[in-house]
Amino acid sequence: MQIIGTVSEMQRLADSFRIQGKKIGVVLTMGYLHAGHVSLIGTARKVSDVVITTIFVNPTQFGPGEDFERYPRDFERDKTLASEAGTDILFCPQRDEMYAPNFATYVEIEDVSKILEGKFRPTHFRGVTTVVAKLLNITKPHVAVFGQKDAQQAFLIRKMATDLNFDVSIVVAPIIREPDGLALSSRNVYLNPDERQRATSLYKSLKRAEMLIGKGERSAEKLHNEIKKILLGVNPTLVDYIACVHPDNFKEVETLTPPTVLVALAVRFGSTRLIDNMIMNVA
Ligand code: AMP
Repeated sequence: MQIIGTVSEMQRLADSFRIQGKKIGVVLTMGYLHAGHVSLIGTARKVSDVVITTIFVNPTQFGPGEDFERYPRDFERDKTLASEAGTDILFCPQRDEMYAPNFATYVEIEDVSKILEGKFRPTHFRGVTTVVAKLLNITKPHVAVFGQKDAQQAFLIRKMATDLNFDVSIVVAPIIREPDGLALSSRNVYLNPDERQRATSLYKSLKRAEMLIGKGERSAEKLHNEIKKILLGVNPTLVDYIACVHPDNFKEVETLTPPTVLVALAVRFGSTRLIDNMIMNVA
């Protein structure tokens, strides 16, 4: 595995792969890698000749008072995990090169970037879509793999790629979970043992909703109440939102209709904010 730290070197290398007719797959991360990232790298490996993994803790997607400074970092461990997962090129740009002092261009998607996560993190998606646009321009992939864990983010990146004619195919890979259902996240390291235990309520509440839908429940309000009951049962610090949305447009639905619904949650335990979601079949 080769480690690249500058934009120009990464672009030159990507050009040379393209000239050789190699298919480039990319996985964009903020590091502190876990099995969720490893699975995305595995997916990229299957569909490409060269796999680029990027590590960049992107300051523009953190709001004031969020965890940018304390976001977990472990470059040595990341190198091992990325390499073992099948990364050919590890691209780790410097903050100063990604955002020069006179940086002034942002990619902002209307509507869907303002709801759910966007309501609680108003500048978050603008930072995400901007850095993803930059990293796609730097790594020049044919395929970019994202996780369903960040469902709204994956939706917006697809939208950006379509609206701005990015010549890349966007693949969304399934959520990887701990054995007890907690979705893997770099931020899980913030949870103390008690919070870690209570955090399983996110998955439990989603499974309960899935079961109720299987039994014929079609009211989003009733599902919302059932989910809330389970979440409040473990005394979270705050439930930011519980939403039943159409997976194709992220619009909230009142009555579930076939074929699927996406149920998304954001819950806080202390200062740790967890998100989770599940796409459920509606027969
Ligand atoms: P992050 O490093 O948290 O910015 O995540 C980088 C990529 O990994 C994003 O596309 C995430 O959606 C994806 N990802 C994070 N956690 C998981 C998980 N538990 N399962 C699958 N993909 C994940």
